[in-house]
Amino acid sequence: MTFATLGLIEPLLRSLEKLGYQTPTPVQAQAVPAVLAGRDLMAAAQTGTGKTAGFALPLLQLLAMEGPKVTANSVRALILVPTRELAEQVHEAVRQYAENLPLRTYAVYGGVSINPQMMKLRSGVDLLVATPGRLLDLFRQNALKFNQLQTLVLDEADRMLDLGFSEELANIYKALPKKRQTLLFSATFSDDIRLLAGQMLNDPLSIEVSPRNVAANTVKQWIVTVDKKRKPELFVHLMRKGKWKQVLVFAKTRNGVDALVEKLQGLGINADGIHGDKPQATRQRALDRFKASEVQILVATDVAARGLDIEDLPLVVNFDLPIVAEDYIHRIGRTGRAGSTGEAISLVCADEVNLLSAIEMLTRQTLKRQNEPDFEPEHRVPDTDASGQVIKKPKKPKKPKASGGGGKRNLGKWVDSGEVAPAEPSIKPVRKVPVFNTGPRKRKP
Ligand code: AMP
Repeated sequence: MTFATLGLIEPLLRSLEKLGYQTPTPVQAQAVPAVLAGRDLMAAAQTGTGKTAGFALPLLQLLAMEGPKVTANSVRALILVPTRELAEQVHEAVRQYAENLPLRTYAVYGGVSINPQMMKLRSGVDLLVATPGRLLDLFRQNALKFNQLQTLVLDEADRMLDLGFSEELANIYKALPKKRQTLLFSATFSDDIRLLAGQMLNDPLSIEVSPRNVAANTVKQWIVTVDKKRKPELFVHLMRKGKWKQVLVFAKTRNGVDALVEKLQGLGINADGIHGDKPQATRQRALDRFKASEVQILVATDVAARGLDIEDLPLVVNFDLPIVAEDYIHRIGRTGRAGSTGEAISLVCADEVNLLSAIEMLTRQTLKRQNEPDFEPEHRVPDTDASGQVIKKPKKPKKPKASGGGGKRNLGKWVDSGEVAPAEPSIKPVRKVPVFNTGPRKRKP
């Protein structure tokens, strides 16, 4: 199969040739004809398998071939993304695909001055990539109109539909024309989101090119158990032992990111961090420098978990496990992209056993443990498996007092090592189904 047989027009084929894309990926093979035919879509495909081109190519073709010329302050197609960095990246891909087409494309996001964005929108934009907050600001300031809008794309759709964005999305929805094409793309869709998404679409085609919620099979995954307070020390030890060159590290909190960066920089290691408290220019610069291999270790919150495409990134480290199991799939999907291989290592402490169990259950795999001598935890991480069980080994019976005689001997309840102790139900963090117009704003990562 070729891009030509999918029905793409010659100006797009020329761009793809220049980019070195020879064969459509499975998600592209299914999505391109469906979008060209005007269908609504819910498309799930593993991280790094070309979803962006899957929606952008047919969208650009529809914009070039159909519909009226864009008028002042209008937009004909809108791609919503969860982070500013992703807005930049998706727009860059769109710009490259659209190189030979007479279309205006642009990206708007927060954290930077709104005035240049308002100026640019004056003459209208065929395809706009946006984060929801800034899009609404622009709309409320009459810099944007949606009366010409023909297609809406939610990239990282499950993230866009969860509670954190629900209020903004509900307000955007109110402003959009009811009659339009809607496309949802993500690597993960929880059942709740699937249900909600289904209600938003008109006779949707569901595309699933891999089993549900699986991590990219190009990524080798393993965990190291360790006591919480020794994680920084273990990280540095593994880094030196493995001679790590370029690593994306995920920490749970903004403070956690800053603390690890400070520690690494204090050791003379070339590290930088990104999180939601940093100015946008600093965030983008850190990411650009990391992509250019000018920074060796980039420590980030989940702001970097979604969609970012870092060419040939060899390694992702989860310094902390994510609170939401789906984010694990997205985090480790920053490596092993576009057919290359990668590695993902998670440092897991006893407090995180339920998070580990939820990840194993979601991804239907038991993560291999490869413990590090000298870092064996004092607080053991109970065994887990893909069934969601946390297997607590019973305590060894106390030794009888040496004095012997009168004291009662407590033999405890011994279980052979081959036997499985009664399982404790694991706690799976659940994403709430959004209730539009209500609910608190989730903290930005
Ligand atoms: P995405 O999942 O959209 O972020 O794409 C992952 C990476 O694969 C990006 O670097 C794309 O440029 C690249 N890519 C997408 N489609 C193809 C294709 N058909 N052939 C070669 N590379 C591709």
